[in-house]
Amino acid sequence: MSTLPPCPKCGSEYTYEDGPSLICPECAHEWSALASAETPAEGDKVIRDSVGNVLQDGDTVSVIKDLKVKGSSLVVKVGTKVKGIRLCDGDHDIDCKIDGIGAMKLKSEFVKKV
Ligand SMILES: [Zn+2]
Repeated sequence: MSTLPPCPKCGSEYTYEDGPSLICPECAHEWSALASAETPAEGDKVIRDSVGNVLQDGDTVSVIKDLKVKGSSLVVKVGTKVKGIRLCDGDHDIDCKIDGIGAMKLKSEFVKKV
């Protein structure tokens, strides 16, 4: 049986491969098979950084814009390196500890893997 993923746009299971691409015959959506090859088993949520790198627990990231720390006057400056991130669920999907600030949560869209 085919192990091709369903169409991400319309959910059709009748996708087929065309070279490096996957194509949906129902809505004509075309996307890269390479990207889906990195996708872990069903049920695992993939968290990507601002440029599309897949993030994992323990990664080091750098902040790509100044971020205000909720409930304080502190700001995490752009370029701040954050070591040993932990992925979590929710709106802010990265749990981490930042030097001089402490434990906080970040959004993956505002970081870049180092
Ligand atoms: Zn489709």
